[in-house]
Amino acid sequence: MAADVPSRFVREPTAAERAELIQLRDKGAVGTRARAAVILLSARRVTIPEIVRRLGLSRPTVTHWLRRFERSGVAGLRDRPRSGRPTRISSDVLRHVTMVVSARPRDLGIPGTRWSLARLRRYLVQAGVVPALSLESLRIAMKRAGLSFTSSRAGQIQKGVTTMIPGAFEYHAPSSLGEATALLAKLGDDAKVLSGGQSLIPLMKLRLASPRHLIDINGLPGLAYVREDGGTLRIGGLTREADLEESDLVRRRYPLLFDTCAVIADPIVRNLATIGGNLAHGDPANDHPATMLAFGAEVVAVGSGGERKIPIGSFFTGPFSTALKADEIVVEVRVPTPKPAAAAPT
Ligand SMILES: Cc1cc2nc3c(=O)[nH]c(=O)nc-3n(C[C@H](O)[C@H](O)[C@H](O)COP(=O)(O)OP(=O)(O)OC[C@H]3O[C@@H](n4cnc5c(N)ncnc54)[C@H](O)[C@@H]3O)c2cc1C
Repeated sequence: MAADVPSRFVREPTAAERAELIQLRDKGAVGTRARAAVILLSARRVTIPEIVRRLGLSRPTVTHWLRRFERSGVAGLRDRPRSGRPTRISSDVLRHVTMVVSARPRDLGIPGTRWSLARLRRYLVQAGVVPALSLESLRIAMKRAGLSFTSSRAGQIQKGVTTMIPGAFEYHAPSSLGEATALLAKLGDDAKVLSGGQSLIPLMKLRLASPRHLIDINGLPGLAYVREDGGTLRIGGLTREADLEESDLVRRRYPLLFDTCAVIADPIVRNLATIGGNLAHGDPANDHPATMLAFGAEVVAVGSGGERKIPIGSFFTGPFSTALKADEIVVEVRVPTPKPAAAAPT
């Protein structure tokens, strides 16, 4: 077997992959039938010389498709898109790619400090964004989104020149909560609240979100705090992850919350990202939603109609969707203080 083939026999395909491979072998396009047959034979521990003999293919062809399967799964066996043909990459994939722009692979659980196509693909597969993705599709998708890898020291994913510019929007910086909710009520779905901007701005840069008005609530007073009050931990909606991480109260009395914010992204993101934004974004891949569900927390929202307390169990209505009304702002998250026996030893 050629030295660059990662294993003697191809890895065991999953049940879904096996079904897809059989479908390809029996009913696929002429070229892909032989490729699927190569993988299925190898998965049955048939050696490369024997596959070569049975299928009448050359050894380099067989090893090529084994490598492609190892790298890209069944998707790697399909014909690459011809240039000019649109690559089908979902907005979800692009959103995740944009999210990692400022992170290093190891911050997201992938070994290494520099991004490469292979590492990015591994991240997307591990994060469950895609079951499999060919390097070629990812490369084309990144190009289309104006993203590229820097060859410099940073080894990060770099923004392109034109395609990253968000659509035009009007910027509002209200100075009171009343002013902010009145603006939201007036502008309706055309407006978005801006907190840390760590999820919203990347989406806008890719034009996956194009709000016509941004309501920046960073100047609103009294929305960033962490305090205990009557058996409840009260966290202001504008509290940054870094403030939670540095809070002695959180570290001592709410270890689950401390562990949660300490693993979110990297210090740069944590210095900006807010707990209100993390929950309001409704991203199932975010960390606070699960933690707050485990705590049985409560979200306090204020809109033009007044204040509402929303139990966390009914806050999330689907992926990227919450029970918040268009004019409501998350002003506080309430976490019940754990009973003494439930706390971790200090
Ligand atoms: C590289 C990178 C890695 C990340 N890794 C992680 C991770 O490991 N774990 C994790 O949990 N998160 C992660 N995130 C997401 C990060 O925590 C986001 O900042 C967070 O999801 C959104 O908070 P924000 O304050 O930045 O909100 P924004 O981006 O400003 O807003 C996000 C959404 O929420 C709405 N919104 C914001 N604040 C409010 C509010 N107070 N009331 C009502 N609506 C509001 C906005 O209108 C927008 O729709 C990562 C982000 C980046 C860029």
